[in-house]
Amino acid sequence: MLLAKLLSIGGASSSNFKNICIHLLGDERLLRESYKFRRLRFLLPDLGIRIVHEEPLLKAYLASVLDGLDFLTQRKTLVYDKNLGNDIDRADALQNIGPNVYLVHESLHLSLRSSLGTPKDPTAIVCEEALAQSMEWLIGLEMHSALSQLAWRLQSPVQIHPAIRQTAMALINATSDKTLYELILHSFLSSLFLRDKFQKSDFKKICDLLKLEPSSEMFSLFKIGFDMSDRFRYDTVWGYVAQKSGITVEHYLCNQSIDFQTPLHAINGLNFFREKKFFAGSRSL
Ligand SMILES: [Zn+2]
Repeated sequence: MLLAKLLSIGGASSSNFKNICIHLLGDERLLRESYKFRRLRFLLPDLGIRIVHEEPLLKAYLASVLDGLDFLTQRKTLVYDKNLGNDIDRADALQNIGPNVYLVHESLHLSLRSSLGTPKDPTAIVCEEALAQSMEWLIGLEMHSALSQLAWRLQSPVQIHPAIRQTAMALINATSDKTLYELILHSFLSSLFLRDKFQKSDFKKICDLLKLEPSSEMFSLFKIGFDMSDRFRYDTVWGYVAQKSGITVEHYLCNQSIDFQTPLHAINGLNFFREKKFFAGSRSL
């Protein structure tokens, strides 16, 4: 039923939204419902980043494997995979699939890079990844309706459990979404810096750093970053780090320790999002 409703909204060729992806099912719904999604999409042209659906470019990007992000960065172009149009009758199948192009995630990377440059050293690369992951999570949090959650599934693999959503919203109401963002960012940083498993003592240190009174709710939110698979952490993120810097995971683990002071690149990234008013509201249209 939800999918039928989403389909009845259909294409967005008549939409007034800037930079809408007209071949992407539910794109307009996401633009309407999430302030941060809208903010990100509207920001792209200001940063000189275009967003297109072009088959040859899509094929070349998908073939780039670990270099896909650099492929897009060099072209200042985001490419998306059409899922609305020809085979709409088979659209029920969409219920069971996710995106094969992570448009939101890559939008975040390219936006950060347009301001901070492409990171070179392992720490900055991991910081950028943690920033993109945590911001994507925070955008996903703004998908409150079942309809937008379905549309979101077609653009992002990030799924938020209803109980976690409730806890996160309660924290925003009690503090601010910037507080939540910092907590989630540190969670992803800890996880991506290959902290093998979540430790309660780490959580206490992060709360001290952020000047937060630890609570069981915050504790459950801090575990978010550790939900991602080991395969993603090691093969994807560290595969990329190794390729770009020549450093191996083993080398890194032997020579670096996590001091839990937010690395500089993460602070700069946080400031970038703040300047671009990502924390200025949460209004749907
Ligand atoms: Zn990434």
